[in-house]
Amino acid sequence: MNMVIDMKQLYIDFDGVILDTITYPYEYVEKTLGLEINSENMGNFYKELNWHQFLQDMPVINDSINCIQKIIESNQFDVSILTHVNSLNEAHEKIEYIRQFFKDIKIIPVPRSISKTKMVLPAGAILIDDYCGNLKEWTEAGGIGVRFSTKLSSKGYPVIDRLDKILTLSIA
Ligand SMILES: [Mg+2]
Repeated sequence: MNMVIDMKQLYIDFDGVILDTITYPYEYVEKTLGLEINSENMGNFYKELNWHQFLQDMPVINDSINCIQKIIESNQFDVSILTHVNSLNEAHEKIEYIRQFFKDIKIIPVPRSISKTKMVLPAGAILIDDYCGNLKEWTEAGGIGVRFSTKLSSKGYPVIDRLDKILTLSIA
């Protein structure tokens, strides 16, 4: 029997789930640069960013790398990383970052302007994401949304604060 066909598809978001790439940029733009948080100022920040160094410097959230290893070893899920990107350079550096730890995981960069639901097939698949907008689109397209929140704020979705909790979460 081929185990692979029995495994559920599991898509894991990157920003705010694997790495905390959220807190520092917002603080930097607001406090250090003294600028308003809006898409133009954030966009300019990300355009100028040294993504390689940035990813190395940002904190891993709640042992996420080891948690992903645990999820892979459980053989319960076919795991992919599904991450929005603003540029090819960002995609390149995120792929290099994840490849340091995982040789054969799938990594799917999604252009920021495209819904994650247009890049892969959500039906019957799980998406772990910290952003409710993505979860809403995902569930509306027939997928199963699981919110990642370090404060366990569910916003109406099953919620986890550590990735390995997906192994014991009961979801419909
Ligand atoms: Mg995110």
